[in-house]
Amino acid sequence: MALGEFELIDRFFRRPVRRAVLGVGDDCALLQPRPGMQLAVSTDLLVEGRHFLSTVDPVRLGHKALAVNLSDLAACGAEPLAFTLSLSMPRPDERFLAPFAEGLLALADRHAIELVGGDTTAGPLTIGITVMGEVPAGQALRRSGARAGDALWVSGWPGEARLALEVFRGTLSLPEVDFNAARRAMEQPEPRVALGLALRGVASAAIDVSDGLLGDLGHVLKASGVGAALSLADFPRRPLLARQPAAVQRMAWLTGGDDYELLFTAPPAAADAVQAASAQAGVPVHRIGRITAEPGLQVRDETGAALDLAGWAAFDHFRT
Ligand code: ADP
Ligand code: MG
Repeated sequence: MALGEFELIDRFFRRPVRRAVLGVGDDCALLQPRPGMQLAVSTDLLVEGRHFLSTVDPVRLGHKALAVNLSDLAACGAEPLAFTLSLSMPRPDERFLAPFAEGLLALADRHAIELVGGDTTAGPLTIGITVMGEVPAGQALRRSGARAGDALWVSGWPGEARLALEVFRGTLSLPEVDFNAARRAMEQPEPRVALGLALRGVASAAIDVSDGLLGDLGHVLKASGVGAALSLADFPRRPLLARQPAAVQRMAWLTGGDDYELLFTAPPAAADAVQAASAQAGVPVHRIGRITAEPGLQVRDETGAALDLAGWAAFDHFRT
């Protein structure tokens, strides 16, 4: 007999809570934020065929569904607390649910974030997660804090995830070892939670790079009422990306998407504090440009020539 809704929830998603007052099983979950803390809330929806391929390993899908949400908490400098899971799937397939729950809950445990509720229904495979985190009142990192003269930083190695997407699309071919590395970047991003926490009080603005660097930087510039100047010569790349043709590197870097790195600004005097935050979190950071008073974005290529950005649109679900 097919697995019923409540049996499914009990088997795969009900676990004892530690920090929440009440978890899965009642009409509401109950959370008790610590005194002086604000709740940071974010939600992301993953739709089969749009955000992931039907062939993805369910362990990796469970990981990524939570990772993209934790990345939003990271970008706010919030400490993960609890999450809910809304799941729609064509049939209650244990061969999907067991590995999906495994990937999801393994990442949850590493970040001490608890699954406290959700909703389960039949339908096309869609995963909606809402995360809640805590941040001391007034200390959340926001998009609106960048000031002229601030340095622009990015964590990790943006652009690698996009290479895997291009291989799946058939526009790029990679040796197997490179493809596996790119695929890990795409399917198993590591949310930069520790870095976000360490950047509280250091970064002036932050965002996580999910839709491509240009587009996400654009959100910061708009919210802060400033511009930015970047140089492609300063962009970090590991051999995996550095081995690609220059045009592929630029495309992956500027519009890649699915990186889940933190893009942030900080006053020049805070450079040492940024490096200390990076060391504390164990995540490399690179300085790639500066914030300007004039609005707009100027990008120089490796030779110092201005890059024409017309046509470099960021990912938009309703425009592409
Ligand atoms: P309600 O009828 O109040 O909407 P449901 O019958 O949908 O409640 O869910 C029963 C309980 O199981 C609730 O506590 C709900 O939060 C939880 N739940 C449902 N689906 C999930 C899921 N996918 N993951 C975690 N908890 C879930
Ligand atoms: Mg319900």
